Amino acid sequence: PKAKEPPKIQRLDDSVVNRIAAGEVIQRPVLAVKELVENSLDAGSTSVNVAVKDSGLKLIQVSDDGHGIRYEDLPILCERHTTSKLSKYEDLQSIKSMGFRGEALASMTYVGHVMVTTITKGQLHGYRASYRDGVMENEPKACAAVKGTQIMVENLFYNMIARRKTLQNSSDDYTKIVDLLSRFAIHHTSVSFSCRKYGASRSDVHSIATTSRMDSIRTVYGVSVARNLIKIEASDNDSSTSLFEMVGFISNSNYVAKKTTMVLFINDRLVECSALKRAIEIVYSATLPKASKPFIYMSIVLPPEHVDVNVHPTKREVSLLNLEVIIEKVQSVVESKLRDSDEAKTFQGQT
Ligand code: ADP
Ligand code: MG
Repeated sequence: PKAKEPPKIQRLDDSVVNRIAAGEVIQRPVLAVKELVENSLDAGSTSVNVAVKDSGLKLIQVSDDGHGIRYEDLPILCERHTTSKLSKYEDLQSIKSMGFRGEALASMTYVGHVMVTTITKGQLHGYRASYRDGVMENEPKACAAVKGTQIMVENLFYNMIARRKTLQNSSDDYTKIVDLLSRFAIHHTSVSFSCRKYGASRSDVHSIATTSRMDSIRTVYGVSVARNLIKIEASDNDSSTSLFEMVGFISNSNYVAKKTTMVLFINDRLVECSALKRAIEIVYSATLPKASKPFIYMSIVLPPEHVDVNVHPTKREVSLLNLEVIIEKVQSVVESKLRDSDEAKTFQGQT
């Protein structure tokens, strides 16, 4: 075929670049909720409350009692790459906070309307400011506020018609949001969480701060889950190749479910690891041939330099050094605990 004239290469407008990037970070309403709740946790909150209208498309509101945001930081709060959590690249290696890129709030302002109300310790009143496309729309207004920060995101994806349409037709993000808050609630047991549809009197997740993980699982996932759990623990501190600690709860042979629930935190980050999930499912189907899919809560702590947190735009996945070693260790612990509990049950059945 005859060669065509090459099309001219142009530099994209910042606003276009930012909206494209935003669409990747905030793929759906539940991811906006995740970013907001993680900000609340990073701010040292002991209470995080979420309210959602129209599955998050109309409104997402997250209120916390954390340290708040300084008045003088409000003008740049929602600009891209503004953060209080990282100052040099090397910090990423030891980062404890969930945020680090300064992109979440900015992204929300490119695909929705953001309003922030915040008060810092010792102040008599708070401030409210609204943002669009990274920019604060007017001077912060003084307002009444109790403690911490409330962020409202309205009309998510108002400027991304295709995205809005798919989300409106697709399955409910509200279910995903409830699921997300449930997961946070059983890991962060010293924080109380709630999640409700805006205006509803009943909340769909309601956890109170407790010292017992089991109590928290019972409150959030119900007795039928909690009474069928086995505690598991593993650590590997002797070998030079791997260094990790794992604690968790896994379901026993009495538990019944069609789908696996795997709540996984690695260094306090809620992440997914399909390789680990599959490895555990294999142990279940081999050890308990007729058993249902498992419920798993697992918290793994690794040296920060063994975890790369910056491999996924939504931070959904992290990459781990020595993943194979970890998987093997977890599999053997899960297998022996399952066998023990199944034998104990058989034994009880005989007497
Ligand atoms: P990141 O979390 O990666 O720093 P974000 O865009 O999520 O980026 O947030 C930008 C900054 O805004 C944070 O670094 C933090 O200082 C501040 N911030 C956001 N949400 C809150 C909150 N709920 N309470 C206190 N500070 C907050
Ligand atoms: Mg953040």
